[in-house]
Amino acid sequence: MTKFSDDFTITIGQHEVLVKLVDDVVKYSEYNPDQHLFGLFISDKLTIYIQKNLHTSLFKDTLLHETLHAIWFFSGATAIEAEHYTEEIIVSILTPWLMLFIRDNPEVLELYID
Ligand SMILES: [Zn+2]
Repeated sequence: MTKFSDDFTITIGQHEVLVKLVDDVVKYSEYNPDQHLFGLFISDKLTIYIQKNLHTSLFKDTLLHETLHAIWFFSGATAIEAEHYTEEIIVSILTPWLMLFIRDNPEVLELYID
């Protein structure tokens, strides 16, 4: 079980992203209805959906995974063609956004320190 039993928001740069705990994440996906998902970021809704009652380690993994999808979207990196990605470019894109995320979400980060 997670310490977060209700919906909450995280701050990513200028954006307040709602983290919504739901019974079935797939319902919110526009893609393959047969896939099994623990989490999903929907950019135009500024919402991360996460399956309710995940084990804490899976919840933490899923929250960070979807946060990175949100960062990737907000950074504009989706406009870069995949063949141009290098390790240095990816790390350089993610680093300042992760710095902001760490600075702006101390209550969420407590979950990762136990
Ligand atoms: Zn993903």
